[in-house]
Amino acid sequence: MRLTFSPEEAAFREAVRAFLSEHLPDDIRRKVLRNLPLDKADIVRWTKILAGQGWSAPNWPVEHGGTGWTPVQSYIFTEEAALTGAPEPIAFGVRMVAPVLLAFGTDAQKASYLPRIRSGDDWWCQGYSEPGAGSDLAGLSTSARLEGDEFVVTGQKIWTTYAQHADMMFCLVRSDPDARKQRGISFLLIDMKSPGITVRPIITLDGKHEVNEVFLDAVRVPASNLVGELNRGWDCAKYLLRHERFSTGMIGQIRRNLRFLVETLASRPGPGGPLSEDLSFCERIAQVTIEVDALEYTLLRALSEADRGGDVGTKASLFKIRSCQLAQKVSELHLDALGTDALPYPAGARRAGWSSGGLLPDYAPAQVANYLNLRKLTIYGGSEEVQKNILSKAELNL
Ligand SMILES: Cc1cc2nc3c(=O)[nH]c(=O)nc-3n(C[C@H](O)[C@H](O)[C@H](O)COP(=O)(O)OP(=O)(O)OC[C@H]3O[C@@H](n4cnc5c(N)ncnc54)[C@H](O)[C@@H]3O)c2cc1C
Repeated sequence: MRLTFSPEEAAFREAVRAFLSEHLPDDIRRKVLRNLPLDKADIVRWTKILAGQGWSAPNWPVEHGGTGWTPVQSYIFTEEAALTGAPEPIAFGVRMVAPVLLAFGTDAQKASYLPRIRSGDDWWCQGYSEPGAGSDLAGLSTSARLEGDEFVVTGQKIWTTYAQHADMMFCLVRSDPDARKQRGISFLLIDMKSPGITVRPIITLDGKHEVNEVFLDAVRVPASNLVGELNRGWDCAKYLLRHERFSTGMIGQIRRNLRFLVETLASRPGPGGPLSEDLSFCERIAQVTIEVDALEYTLLRALSEADRGGDVGTKASLFKIRSCQLAQKVSELHLDALGTDALPYPAGARRAGWSSGGLLPDYAPAQVANYLNLRKLTIYGGSEEVQKNILSKAELNL
């Protein structure tokens, strides 16, 4: 086990910093540092810049355009990118469906989809959850009936993040209604422009259009879009969830928001002077900083094991629980520091360039929106309770 970065890793960090400082567009960086919403165009623009450098798919095998970085190098890149204010890449393509295609896809599927994911040309969404199937995902009922060389898909997905932007959806469907729950599921790739698909927005607490309902009405999907074996999609689904949960990106984002707290919000007035002189507030910042450090060391320990060929396994659940809790904790500190300035939440205030005309700090509404938005963290990708169940079973043998 090694808990310090090697000279080569330190040099790599410098190279990443130099690249970010030269290539990250300033308008995008400013939005990210202030927690302002990004447009699809911002994210695609950044993905294409990374692709130009050969860095848009860090964890893929080199022969498919991956970087060949070690897990620790990937972590350094992700942390530096988040700290500098680079957008988090949309995970559905690079980090979710791509590993499934690499593990279970045909050569034709790999050749058709991977280059367009890497280049940022295709935007993917995840069609797993349904109104009656969330934590109990295997209870899904969207049906896929094979007719000649096409599946006919009918049903409803929900909470589909960025379906409104998506070109493609990877989707779990019930292809054998008579088989035991997990055995009758298949993993299909669906073109979002197919006739019969309707995307209906769900506006969340922060006023954002991030999630959707997706209705599928007799959508015809080529049989060649089946990934893996018919009725064995549960294997793909589980494999993908491990990649979804093991996101190392959160620590950089938490540190970025901690920095905003210390550099900007701590100078706000507290009960007896600036918050930076309020002992109990400083203690809360110190406590959460210590907890982030502890999480980072735990993560680096796992990555150094992974560097030597080890498997992160169910520890992914541990990282998801802790990083989501800490991200929420920091956003709560933002709100506490804003005090009554967190109360007004005018429409349009989260747009870049918005001004309150001196009534409240212009950065305030975006921090409130961020606080509200981050409530999702302990729900999506498997709720906190479900992650705890996984850990208690796998790690504690309960
Ligand atoms: C912002 C956001 C974005 C999302 N994006 C996507 C997406 O892009 N694609 C997609 O497919 N899905 C997406 N989801 C859906 C997400 O994966 C589900 O919301 C999640 O799996 C929980 O399912 P549920 O909402 O049906 O809640 P339920 O499963 O009904 O759970 C309700 C409550 O019961 C608890 N619970 C359930 N089962 C157990 C158990 N066995 N033990 C203890 N407690 C339990 C849960 O923890 C939760 O608190 C998104 C969700 C959100 C909020």
